[in-house]
Amino acid sequence: MSYFPDMGCESMVVAGPHIRPIGWLHPDHPYTKGEVSSEFLSRLKEFTERCGQSAEALYFGASGGIHTCEFCGQAYGVGNFGVPCDDLLFVAPEMVVHYIEKHDYRPPAEFVAAVLRCALPDSEEYQVLTEPFWHLHKLALERRCQ
Ligand SMILES: [Zn+2]
Repeated sequence: MSYFPDMGCESMVVAGPHIRPIGWLHPDHPYTKGEVSSEFLSRLKEFTERCGQSAEALYFGASGGIHTCEFCGQAYGVGNFGVPCDDLLFVAPEMVVHYIEKHDYRPPAEFVAAVLRCALPDSEEYQVLTEPFWHLHKLALERRCQ
């Protein structure tokens, strides 16, 4: 999987000043380790279970292929999902759960707060929250294809 630093402006699927990538880890780069709450972890799993709906609501286009865990080679994921927070959008790979559970990764507090607060991707509220991003990403993708 490609590496993108947490809280930058770029991920494998989308980029821009509104994007905050989370959990695009790689063994060549150090990352923050530590405990996370079980409340956060179970809520996060509800997001990863709804990756498809999230990607659709956010007009992610192609997933960018399969991500393999480059720390252990024992896990892989294909999906990515977004967590809107006001005018910012956190974008994480499905693998983020594996990084937390197996590699002790601790995501930034802003992301933890957003996951606990945001409606799940199969809700109407999520559709409303993600609509501005849907338009942005559609435009960006169309520009890239021209
Ligand atoms: Zn691993």
